[in-house]
Amino acid sequence: MDAVAPALETIDTIPILIAPHAMLKTRARPVQSVDQDTVRALLPRMFATMYRAPGIGLAGPQVGQLLRVIAIDLMPDNHPNPMSLINPEIVAQSEELATREEGCLSLPGMYAEVTRPARVKVRYLDQTGARREIQADGLLAACLQHEIDHLDGILFVDHLSPLKRNMIMRKLAKEQRQKVGGR
Ligand SMILES: [Zn+2]
Repeated sequence: MDAVAPALETIDTIPILIAPHAMLKTRARPVQSVDQDTVRALLPRMFATMYRAPGIGLAGPQVGQLLRVIAIDLMPDNHPNPMSLINPEIVAQSEELATREEGCLSLPGMYAEVTRPARVKVRYLDQTGARREIQADGLLAACLQHEIDHLDGILFVDHLSPLKRNMIMRKLAKEQRQKVGGR
């Protein structure tokens, strides 16, 4: 799997959708066997897009693909450790909660503290179609929940109070307008 990252430099990236965008609020559909070729072509492009952003997680809807596909790489000790998750499902979660600062490639420059279950167990298919299960805590637990939320049309700001969410969305809209205007 380590060999994936260097080769990605030659792969085209995909534009990342910025909130608010209708696709980011839409539930993605499960990957079926007919989607195999689409997903095989999509995953390397998602990793290339994520590494170049740079980010640690990217979900299908963020690149305009309403499929239940996630790319994650926390780059432990600065080494690539790509995880492809197809049709991921949270099958267990701790009662204990954890709060950490989250950001999102679809809300560039915006960060907020989000509270979620501290530990999760996730079942998914990997890029070869093999069934896998992972127990995660810490950053990976938060990242998995954040990305699986994307597949259900949920953004990290949806976990905040309406006041805080509106503040962030207004700030993002303003910055995006300035960015476009400055071109
Ligand atoms: Zn995100």
